[in-house]
Amino acid sequence: MLSYPASRPNAYTGSPIDRAALKRDDAAWIADALAGPDTLFAPVWRSKSLMKGVAEGRPEALLLTGAAAGAFRMAGGPWAFLGLWQEKPVFAVDCSEAEDPLPLLSEAQGEFADLRQVAGLLPAGDAAVLAHARGLMHWRVRHRFCGVCGGSCEPRSAGNVMSCTQCGTQHFPRTDPAVIMLVVRGDKCLLGHSQRFPNTTMYSTLAGFVEPGESLEEAVRREVMEEAGVSVGGVYYHSSQPWPFPASIMLGFHAEGLSDEITIDATELRDARWFSRDDIRRAGELGFSLPRPDSIARRLIVDWLEGA
Ligand SMILES: [Zn+2]
Repeated sequence: MLSYPASRPNAYTGSPIDRAALKRDDAAWIADALAGPDTLFAPVWRSKSLMKGVAEGRPEALLLTGAAAGAFRMAGGPWAFLGLWQEKPVFAVDCSEAEDPLPLLSEAQGEFADLRQVAGLLPAGDAAVLAHARGLMHWRVRHRFCGVCGGSCEPRSAGNVMSCTQCGTQHFPRTDPAVIMLVVRGDKCLLGHSQRFPNTTMYSTLAGFVEPGESLEEAVRREVMEEAGVSVGGVYYHSSQPWPFPASIMLGFHAEGLSDEITIDATELRDARWFSRDDIRRAGELGFSLPRPDSIARRLIVDWLEGA
C-alpha cells in the first residue's frame, strides 16, 4: 500500500479566518464593516503582501485597521471581504496602481514582500491569510472584463464575484488544479530536476496541471509518462496545498511506478532518477538537495521516507 497519511498540515493551510460567506451578500453589513474602526485590511501591491519584521527574519502579516487603511481604500483599487478573524471583519485591498504604495501608509509600518520568499518563516495562519488575499486580488485585477462578451464587469458579493454589466454572466474566482506526485517503485522513488529550478542541485517530485476532461488519477499518469516515460498504476491521495501563485491548488499523491526505465522530456526536465530511501537520507553527502521544508513536495517525500 502506498498511502501514507499526511504527517502535518501543509503551508498556506489552517487559516484562522471564518469565511462567513453568508455575509458577502448583506450589503448593509458589508458597508458597516468597511467603515468600522476595528476592521482589518490586508493590502496587496502587485502580488506582494504587507508584512513587518522581514529584514529581521521574523516576518508577520501586517493588517491595517480602518483608519490606517483609508488611503489604500481611497486609492480606488479592488477590494474583497475575506471573512471574520476573531469576530473582526477582514478585507483584502489591492493598491497595485500606485507606483509606490508606502506613502499611502500613514506612517512607515512595514514593507511589501513576496509571500513565497518568506512563507517558511511566517506563522502558519498568517501565511494562509496572505495567500487568500493575494490569490483573490490577483483574480480581481485580471477579471475586469467579461470573457463571454467583452463587457466591463462589476464586483458583487463583497468582491467575491464579478458580474458582467452587458450580458449578466457571473464570473467566480478561479482555482486551477495541479497534481504533484511522488512515484514509488520498490524501495525507490522518482525525483526530477526541472528546467525551471533555479537551484541547480534540487531534485523534486513531478507535477503538472490537470487538463479539461481529465480525472486527477489520469493527470498523474499522463504527467509522469510525459515527463519521465514511467508507467503508473495505483494513485493514492495524500493532501493538498493552496497555491495561489497565481491561482492553483496542489493536489498531492503517492503513485505506484510500474516500469523502471526513465526517458525524460528535455523541455521539462534536465534529469530524473530513482532514489532509494538511503539516497534521500544522504542527499547532502550525495550532492543533491530536496525541495523546501514547507513545500508539499517535501511532505510527500518525507512521509514516504518515514512511512516504511
Ligand atoms: Zn458579458
